[in-house]
Amino acid sequence: MSRPTVLIADDSLVVRAVVRSGLEAEGYVVTEAVDGTAALQHCRQQPPDIVLLDIEMPGLDGYEVLAALKADPELVDIPVVFLTSRSGMDDVVAGLRGGAHDYLKKPFEAPELLARVASAVHVKKLQDALHERNAELDRMSRTDALTGLYNRRHLDDELRRSHEDARRHDAPLCLLLLDIDHFKNVNDTYGHPAGDLVLGAFAQRLREQLRAGDIAGRWGGEEFLIIMPRTDPAGAFEVAERIRTCTGATPVTSVDGHVMKVTVSGGLACGPGDTADAAVHLADTSLYQAKAAGRNQIVAATLTNLT
Ligand SMILES: [Mg+2]
Repeated sequence: MSRPTVLIADDSLVVRAVVRSGLEAEGYVVTEAVDGTAALQHCRQQPPDIVLLDIEMPGLDGYEVLAALKADPELVDIPVVFLTSRSGMDDVVAGLRGGAHDYLKKPFEAPELLARVASAVHVKKLQDALHERNAELDRMSRTDALTGLYNRRHLDDELRRSHEDARRHDAPLCLLLLDIDHFKNVNDTYGHPAGDLVLGAFAQRLREQLRAGDIAGRWGGEEFLIIMPRTDPAGAFEVAERIRTCTGATPVTSVDGHVMKVTVSGGLACGPGDTADAAVHLADTSLYQAKAAGRNQIVAATLTNLT
């Protein structure tokens, strides 16, 4: 928040002018709305950091605007400071109950206006920081730290979602389970840092071969899962083969100069099939077959629907 933005919604030109000059002198960016409808419209188009809201206005009054703001998930966190010219406490209480952050009684002095606006802006800053932090934590909890791909937890969620979507829309869904060949040998021969390097390099090649809409993550260890929504078996096999060939095409060189040839085996399950678990299981079985048949190959299988 560089210069906080304040929306003043009041049908009085005088009040708007007084608020504007007071706040602009302190570095706030001020916009005006002449009634409740205009205030709501402005909030939806360009949400301000805080709203100063008159109660008595033509059309939508302050309570109605407040209720609409609090009912909108996008706008619920904007602190609202009520402006009231009534002498009683009833409207103040009603405003605070409705979710207002604070109130100002008209006529107000500039220092009080500034103090209450500063407090509302402070609350908004804390809320914004909290939201950012939560979003970052959520992202981290779904990301595999080593490869930067999604982790198992996110893949599990996406699997359920994609499977439900495929069933609902009668659309194809393919799952590709990939496993780096003889990965244990890399760790045993060149050490774990070299193993990590191979995982990172593979993840990068994977990323380069994915199409928009494919969801790729680390399933665990040296296993990776790619969810391909709305993809038929031929299309999915093509993607799988691309990943396999580009992985084998260029060896990975360790920091101490060892050239490590990397190949990958894959099991492709084409469905959706009855359940997401059944699809993962078939991908796993196919992967096992690819390994048994000599590795560095893709084995595809089709799920049959029982229901
Ligand atoms: Mg008024």
